[in-house]
Amino acid sequence: MTQNSQVTYLKDYQVPSFIIETTDLDIRIGDEYTSVVARLKVRRNSASSEPSSELVLQGSKDIKLQEVMMNGLILDKSNYDLEGSVLSIHQCPEAFELTTECLIQPQLNASLEGLYKSGGMYCTQCEAEGFRNITYYLDRPDALSVFTTRISAPKVSYPILLSNGNPVEQGDLDNGEHFAVWHDPFPKPAYLFAMVAGNLVRQDDVFTTVSGRKVDLQIFVEAHNSHKCDHALESLKRSMLWDEQVYGREYDLDLFMIVAVDDFNMGAMENKGLNIFNSDCVLADPATSSDAMFERIEGIVAHEYFHNWSGNRVTCRDWFQLSLKEGFTVYRDSQYTADTYSAAVKRIDDVTLLRTHQFAEDAGPMAHPIRPASYIEINNFYSVTVYEKGAEVVGMIHTLLGDALFRKGSDLYFGRHDGQAVTTDDFVAAMSDASGIDLSQFKHWYSQAGTPTLAITDAYDATNNEYRLTVGQSTPATAECQKKLPFHLPLRMALLDTNGLEMPLTLRDDDSVQGDNLLLGNSCVLNITQAQQTFVFEGVMEQPTPSLLRGFSAPVKLDYAYTQEQLLFLASKDQDGFCRWEACQRLLIEATELAMSAMNQSSHYQLGDSLVTMLRASLVDETLDPAMVAKLVQLPSEAYLAETQTTVDVDLIHTGREAMRLAIATALESELLACYNRCHDIGLFSQTGKAIGQRALKNTCLSYLNALDSVQYQGQYQTIARDQYALQANMTDVGAALHILIGQNNSELAAPLLAEFYQRWQGDAQVVCQWFAMQCGANRPGLLKQVQDLLDHDAFDIRNPNKVRSVVGSFIRSAINFHAVDGSGYAFVGDMILKLDNFNPMIAAGLAKPLGRFKRHTPQRQALMQQQLRRLSEAQLSKDVFEVVSRALDSANV
Ligand SMILES: [Zn+2]
Repeated sequence: MTQNSQVTYLKDYQVPSFIIETTDLDIRIGDEYTSVVARLKVRRNSASSEPSSELVLQGSKDIKLQEVMMNGLILDKSNYDLEGSVLSIHQCPEAFELTTECLIQPQLNASLEGLYKSGGMYCTQCEAEGFRNITYYLDRPDALSVFTTRISAPKVSYPILLSNGNPVEQGDLDNGEHFAVWHDPFPKPAYLFAMVAGNLVRQDDVFTTVSGRKVDLQIFVEAHNSHKCDHALESLKRSMLWDEQVYGREYDLDLFMIVAVDDFNMGAMENKGLNIFNSDCVLADPATSSDAMFERIEGIVAHEYFHNWSGNRVTCRDWFQLSLKEGFTVYRDSQYTADTYSAAVKRIDDVTLLRTHQFAEDAGPMAHPIRPASYIEINNFYSVTVYEKGAEVVGMIHTLLGDALFRKGSDLYFGRHDGQAVTTDDFVAAMSDASGIDLSQFKHWYSQAGTPTLAITDAYDATNNEYRLTVGQSTPATAECQKKLPFHLPLRMALLDTNGLEMPLTLRDDDSVQGDNLLLGNSCVLNITQAQQTFVFEGVMEQPTPSLLRGFSAPVKLDYAYTQEQLLFLASKDQDGFCRWEACQRLLIEATELAMSAMNQSSHYQLGDSLVTMLRASLVDETLDPAMVAKLVQLPSEAYLAETQTTVDVDLIHTGREAMRLAIATALESELLACYNRCHDIGLFSQTGKAIGQRALKNTCLSYLNALDSVQYQGQYQTIARDQYALQANMTDVGAALHILIGQNNSELAAPLLAEFYQRWQGDAQVVCQWFAMQCGANRPGLLKQVQDLLDHDAFDIRNPNKVRSVVGSFIRSAINFHAVDGSGYAFVGDMILKLDNFNPMIAAGLAKPLGRFKRHTPQRQALMQQQLRRLSEAQLSKDVFEVVSRALDSANV
């Protein structure tokens, strides 16, 4: 298993010895071979600390090198070496023109990295290291070059030929071929290169920038999807305007293109001027896409667009800096969604994702800082840590600096580094220089992994009207670092009086309090910098209830011993939407834990009256935002409940949570039904925030009510769900009803509905994926056989990542099935990893990560998971899967 274990370290970084000033590509698409001629204008880099006359270019074993020329003269084989995938050119002069001619076979490329064929079209994915599958190149993000790309192909099959930048020339050739030339004036690294050749239709729009330039917006899709582009175009225009208004960033080319591709490993890719999207992340229509999908698509369109500045104009020096562009851009797209829709609901969604998946990664064998120090395969680090925790880190800088200084910092960053490839240190330096705030300790967030716990205690002194808050921080050891230095983090908080009003805050000047604690009227941001600190508030006239970690101001676990009374108080009174929801969640988690221990002792679970009262108050309050009510009354997911347990007992979590669902439905049946009826709008379909919130709330109520059908009712609520399905009003309602009905372990009920749904939508790949996902992720035991049968379904294609995610990914998320005590779920996933690793290592490695997180499971499951990991380790693995499996097995010995 050691042949794959070559590790790349951040500390070994060196500037490139050569610079490629211009890159001229001539790509001729042919049936059997595609020819790639690359003409590079190269010179030695005077900034290199180790000058060398040898130019080393990365390629791939699948490239057939035909010829190498220097300054127009063919080099013979004594002038260069081709070893494996590396091409070394000897004795290069100061400046020269290097031309290589290669043959590749994109139609055989199932890794979907580099140039490949998806359906009838050719397209590319070059981040992180896909360009080396196209030609030999300095495939590293700090090698910036000006690209000109000429593409030629048979005109009938590939009428559309696209690449980055602006179109320069096009025309017909002999033999039914045609060509197009594109030029991108902005120097860019190879990972931002893109090209497309296909038979696509175009949807057009236009955006006028703040300085009055007209930008053509074009979305290219297959003809049968042409009606699904409006939402992406509208989202794009809103994003372009928002980035001008909030960050002062204007678009720079005259053309912005998006292409939808069915076979794609990721969500979307920000190639300069030519974004390539997974079809699922751009195409939307109310009949085929749920509200959640609409929101996700808008977020992704915004994200890729925002990369034009945070990623393309200012890019990464090396891949260890990935969070420089991803953390910042995820933060920007979250801000955009929060500004455009409900900020509190967006925050709750982001925190839920972070705490469920990133906290799990931070506690598992793949734990890494947002700027990793080493990797075997960089594709493994396109992770929730680099993206979502990276965004939290940028968000903390924003909180510490405040709005005005944060904007000053981002302006300085973009201005100072435009056209450069830089590091996360450069980003922090710009923020610090612009604000005058010392962020040197803050940088530990970039180098230390693990989720810190904030242990907070308090004491009220009624004689002196003083309130003392003592904050301690600790972070568990992770592989890269055993003993952690204290983090610098913002703790946003307020003190509430007995009426729930925020009390005025006066902080005592004290040596133990360092940094600039921001007093913002009646709430404040405390600078936490030490392992333990005490803050004293003066003039506090009554015993307050602390509202802590408002807006989830830092990615930490909060350990404060709230009483149930305090939580009930915060759940009804706190003005901070996040804290209000968090108080509800804590109450629901505590109640679910009681239900779990009742189940464990085979006794009956009795729901507490105060919790019922609180949930009732939310359900009947028509003044509240329905989207927020849906969040307040929703039970935490099984995955998040697992995160909160010391030892994870998958079955007990499932039965405990189901018992809670039934208990809540029993206690609040009439309120749930009234709320359902109130929100069930059968009028004209609308996508306002209110309408979307009402659908979310209504479907939450319907899900609760259907828990009753399994016991004392005769299918009364099933009928409501079936009626909602039959109405076929929109995919949000149809999908929710179907999800509820097929979750009921009643195949007589589910089978005809699933058959009808498939019949209706079999021509739409996006909906077929939803159909797979609903069945394979259903939250009831005994699914494996059905999932295995679906692998033989005509619509399943193991080479299509969306289908694999819908079937295998959904199965893994159904914890009771993936973690079945006989080990069958692990063995199935092990089989799939081995199959996929033969042609798509990136997708295979993604499926291996959950197997590696065995540590908190019961001993029996730990043994079964490790058994699969060992089985994998005995196979010939890609370096992607090797890294995940070997790190997981190593963690067993710690
Ligand atoms: Zn991104």
